Amino acid sequence: MSKPIILTLDDDPHVLRAVERDLRAKYAAEYRIARADSGAAALELLGEWKRRGRVPALFLVDQRMPEMTGLEFLAQASVLFPDARRVLLTAYADTDAAIAAINEVQLDHYLLKPWDPPEEKLYPLISELLDDWQLAHPPVFDGIRVVGHPWTPDSYRVKDFLARNNVPYVWLDVVSNGEARELLALVEDREPALPMLFFTDGTTLANPSNRTIADRIGIQTIADQPLYDLIVVGAGPAGLAAAVYGASEGLKTLVVEEEAPGGQAGMSSRIENYLGFPAGISGGELARRAVAQARRFGVEILTTRQAKGLNADGPTRVVTLEDGTTLNGRAVLIATGVSYRELEAKGVADLTGAGVYYGAAMGEGESVRDQDVYIVGGANSAGQAAMYFARFAATVTMLVRGSSLAASMSQYLIDQIGSTANIRVWTHSEVREAVGTDRLTHLVVMRDGGERSETVEAAALFVFIGAQPRTDWLGGVIARDAHGFVLSGTDATVASAANQDTPAPNRASGAVRRPSVRTMRRSSVSMRAPRIPGLLETSVPGVFVAGDVRAGSVKRVASAVGEGSMAVMYVHRYLRET
Ligand SMILES: Cc1cc2nc3c(=O)[nH]c(=O)nc-3n(C[C@H](O)[C@H](O)[C@H](O)COP(=O)(O)OP(=O)(O)OC[C@H]3O[C@@H](n4cnc5c(N)ncnc54)[C@H](O)[C@@H]3O)c2cc1C
Repeated sequence: MSKPIILTLDDDPHVLRAVERDLRAKYAAEYRIARADSGAAALELLGEWKRRGRVPALFLVDQRMPEMTGLEFLAQASVLFPDARRVLLTAYADTDAAIAAINEVQLDHYLLKPWDPPEEKLYPLISELLDDWQLAHPPVFDGIRVVGHPWTPDSYRVKDFLARNNVPYVWLDVVSNGEARELLALVEDREPALPMLFFTDGTTLANPSNRTIADRIGIQTIADQPLYDLIVVGAGPAGLAAAVYGASEGLKTLVVEEEAPGGQAGMSSRIENYLGFPAGISGGELARRAVAQARRFGVEILTTRQAKGLNADGPTRVVTLEDGTTLNGRAVLIATGVSYRELEAKGVADLTGAGVYYGAAMGEGESVRDQDVYIVGGANSAGQAAMYFARFAATVTMLVRGSSLAASMSQYLIDQIGSTANIRVWTHSEVREAVGTDRLTHLVVMRDGGERSETVEAAALFVFIGAQPRTDWLGGVIARDAHGFVLSGTDATVASAANQDTPAPNRASGAVRRPSVRTMRRSSVSMRAPRIPGLLETSVPGVFVAGDVRAGSVKRVASAVGEGSMAVMYVHRYLRET
């Protein structure tokens, strides 16, 4: 929180210094004391404060100044900061002007020069006005202000990025918030691209990319070292756990994360089944703690950087990022999790980010207050989102394809949903169409297994319909199953022997039979034996996999954390042997 400001304005340098000195002596602990020697200079300061979100509490202004009188200044200042208290410093001869100004510029007081001793003539009056001002002004938020249109994909992206990276910000809706419009009026560009970010140092960014925001606020995006023992791709629970274990055991560890640390877990409003948190813990909080723990052990985390390629030809493993930057590691862990499948229904693609969302940004509760929201999906993630939005929305409707939630959701969540009055569950239901021009307004829902369609008003639709790995960047290098999940252990052996991205032998087509380890060992007598990767090792030596992206993994926080931690043991073993 920044201190509120007392501004003193006088063109006489001796008087200005004296006022400033007396104000500082009494108020410097709680207020910033600022000064200006002309009305124009003072107005410039006010413009700057407006842009930076600083708040003046009181103006103490001399009446007699050559270019702009004190009253003229106060008239303009009160437009920018109508709540600041206004005191005029006058000579005896100006008393009438001061009295007239009480109505004209809502002057709070006038003070006759000289004001000695200040304990008697200055402080009682100023203190009373400041106390009065304080009552109406609780401490001011001193962080980034985001001004934008509420239902646009970029506004959503920026808010989501800041929230998931634990960066405090205030959202100001340009449609309904006066401060938002005042801030935009101060920007030179008449039609700036929104959302616009206003920083406390007075600078702004118009619709910046996540990378630009990260660079601006000091989130690390560039690696410090030329070579790491372990590069972890993905900062979900699996990647963060591996980073903590790796770094705590002496591995020089780098994590590369495309969005924000926390992964899917970061979107969870309350994880209730993670060991050691009997009251549950929000995914955001779990991620925040994990990041702090990783940093304590010296892990570097690059955010807003996407791994786009992997080269394993030489002695080091080389990860290529989206801009062509290469990172060198002695070992690599793939922990890229899964992302939501797209909902295929008319209108959905056009309205994504404008009322239709994949997953649920936990900061979005307020934006659906007292409105009707819909959630597609019947698994735990959908259930958690329903419980979260039920605290804000008028109604939450879950659209479930099956006949009940029982097949896909934990009983504790089913019970919670059952006892929450404003959540309703529509089974045998699907979204047929998302309707709206600039933002979602209605949904066409097929009910009773397609027997009837219903058009409903909807402020937002949150989609939780299963997930798929995004592992295209590993194609041709690392063996994956038919769905793109990364194979490990003996499954990877088979795939690498077949030298292809391959269906896992024990799922998908079943065309490839898995040889037993004994068979493989025996065959080594007559031909080069396929290498047997460790449990969490992929088809490429020195490249490991953990968490949801691994073929056959259990899609849970605890198992992702467990696999990430275990993978480090295999990394150690590999590094010892090479
Ligand atoms: C809303 C919700 C609620 C859930 N609730 C629970 C629960 O209550 N209990 C429970 O046990 N599980 C829960 N889950 C499941 C759990 O969150 C996941 O199983 C777990 O997060 C998997 O961890 P992970 O590290 O493997 O992958 P993820 O969490 O998916 O993390 C992968 C990370 O990798 C990043 N990434 C992907 N590709 C790249 C790339 N090319 N370059 C750089 N970075 C990349 C992603 O941005 C992401 O941050 C929930 C999931 C959701 C979505």
